[in-house]
Amino acid sequence: MPLLGCIADDFTGATDLASMLVKNGMRTVQVIGVPAATDPAPDVDAVVVALKSRTSPVAQAVSESLAALEWLRAAGCRQFFFKYCSTFDSTERGNIGPVADALVAALDCGFALACPAFPVNGRSVYQGYLFVGNVLLNESGMEKHPLTPMTDANLVRVLSRQTDGTVGLVPFATVAQGAAATRAAMTALKEQGRRYAIVDAVTNDNLAAIGEAAATHALITGGSGVALGLPENFRRAGLLLAQPDSGALPDVPGHAAVLAGSCSRATLFQIATVRDHVPVLELDPLATPDAKSLAAQAIGWMDGKLGATPVVIAASATPDHVAALQQRLGRDEAGALVEHALADIAEALVARGVRRLVVAGGETSGAVVTRLGVRQLRIGTEIDPGVPWTFAEGSGAPLLLALKSGNFGAPDFFLKSFARLETR
Ligand code: ADP
Repeated sequence: MPLLGCIADDFTGATDLASMLVKNGMRTVQVIGVPAATDPAPDVDAVVVALKSRTSPVAQAVSESLAALEWLRAAGCRQFFFKYCSTFDSTERGNIGPVADALVAALDCGFALACPAFPVNGRSVYQGYLFVGNVLLNESGMEKHPLTPMTDANLVRVLSRQTDGTVGLVPFATVAQGAAATRAAMTALKEQGRRYAIVDAVTNDNLAAIGEAAATHALITGGSGVALGLPENFRRAGLLLAQPDSGALPDVPGHAAVLAGSCSRATLFQIATVRDHVPVLELDPLATPDAKSLAAQAIGWMDGKLGATPVVIAASATPDHVAALQQRLGRDEAGALVEHALADIAEALVARGVRRLVVAGGETSGAVVTRLGVRQLRIGTEIDPGVPWTFAEGSGAPLLLALKSGNFGAPDFFLKSFARLETR
C-alpha cells in the first residue's frame, strides 16, 4: 500500500518529483491524470498523480486536485504532497493557493508548509524571497513568462494574494538550527492561525531538516526538492523497508528508437551528436506541412532499419525554420501538426516492435503518451538529471519510455539512454 500520495500540477514536474523519491529509496509510480475509482493502487511506496492543472481555470484545477486526493486516500496513502514548480509558477489568482486551500480543507489539517526551493537547480528561498541562481525570481526572466509571469519574488506576498488564509515565514535562521526548531516554528505559526508557512531553504541539508520537521504533517506543498527528506521519515517510522534498488524496472526486449519534437538547443545538439552513429531521419514540416504525409515518409523510411541499434526520427528544427512554419500556419496549428505526425509515428514504431523509446520534448511527450494509451509510468533510475527510464503500462504493449523535457540531458543523451539499459 502506498505511503505517500502526490499531486503534481504538470507532467514533467510529476516525473521530476517521482525521480527524487526513487533516488531516496521509495518505489514510485506516476499515473497520468486521475485514475478511475475502480483502478487498483499500484504496489509501490509512493504514487504521483500527474495533472495538467498549472494554468487551467481555478475551479478545474481545484476539482481535479481534489479528485486526485480522494483516489490517493482510497489507495491508503497516509501523507500527501502537492507539487508545483520550483519557480512557483502561478498567476495572481492561482492555481497554487486555491488548490492548496482545497487540499488543506479536505484533509482538515489547518496548515501546510510551502517550499519551492531546489538548491541543486539554483532555486533557493531566503527571508521568503525566491532566488533563481543569484537573482531574484522577478529578475530571472520568469517575469516575462507567457502564462505565469512572476513579477514578485516575495512568496509570502505571492501566496497571500492567492488564498483567503494567512501566510507566515519560517526564516533561514530557524531552519539552519535543524528539524526540531523548524517543527516548533511551524507549530507556532499554525497555533497563531496561519494556514501556510513559506519555509526558507538554501541547501539540501535545509531541505532534509524541513522534511524531517514535517513528518507528521498531513500535507506538504513545494517543489521536488523538499520531498528529498520525506522517505527517511517513513524509514524511521518502520513503514518503509530499505529498498536496495527502488528504481529497478522489468526488462522489455524490443527495438529501440528516439522521437524528437523538441526544438530546444539541447535537443538540437543531441541530434547533431548522434547523427554520425545511427540512422537519423530529419523530417521537414515546412516542405511537407501535412501530418499524414510526414508520418508516411517516416514509416517508409523505418522499414528494415529497426533493431537493437536505435533509429532517430526528428521534426526538430532551428528557430528560423520553426518561425517560418508558425508564420505559415499559426503557432498552435504548427505545433499540433508536428505533434500529430510524431504521435502517428510513435504508434507505427510500437506496432513494428519498438519497446524502448526516448521522446524529446514536453508537449511531444504528452502527445506520444496519450496516443500510446499510457496510463502509468513506473519510475526507474535517472539517465541524466530529471530524466529517468520508466516502465510504461496502459492499453497497449508495455514499453520502456524515457520522456525528456527539451532542455534536459547531456549531448550524448540518446545513445547513453540505450547503453544504460544494457548495463543495468
Ligand atoms: P520542449 O520540451 O523543448 O519545449 P516541446 O515538445 O514541449 O519541446 O515543444 C516543441 C513544440 O515544437 C512541439 O509543439 C512540436 O510539435 C513543435 N515543433 C517541432 N518541430 C517543429 C518544426 N520543425 N516546426 C514547427 N514546430 C515544431
